[in-house]
Amino acid sequence: MADAARPLSVSEILELAQGKVAGLGIATVYRNLKALQAEGQIVRVDLPGLSARWEVTPECHHHHFLCTNCDRVFEVHGCPADMSGLLPGGYALEEHDILLRGRCVDCNEGPKLRPARKRVGHSH
Ligand SMILES: [Zn+2]
Ligand SMILES: [Zn+2]
Repeated sequence: MADAARPLSVSEILELAQGKVAGLGIATVYRNLKALQAEGQIVRVDLPGLSARWEVTPECHHHHFLCTNCDRVFEVHGCPADMSGLLPGGYALEEHDILLRGRCVDCNEGPKLRPARKRVGHSH
């Protein structure tokens, strides 16, 4: 997970781990995730409408980016600001989550978008 440097879903973890440990099952992945979570080494990332992702316990406050094409989640460093000003008077802000959506660099610059561009200007 540290190598991936981004939050991973259980199926992504299983896929990566199977490359190293042949025959590894999903039950083993879940058991290890729970153990690492109990030790405080990793945390579960719950994002609206998505299956849970897991990441190495972050050192600082950060947000996430979801690629709508490949469904991978990435870390976004930095935070726009203190958002307590958005609340009506008398409300207290405890925390916030921000999920950015779009295309990751692989999907944005990848081959999937190129065929459409090539056709432009093709005429007799
Ligand atoms: Zn992508
Ligand atoms: Zn923030």
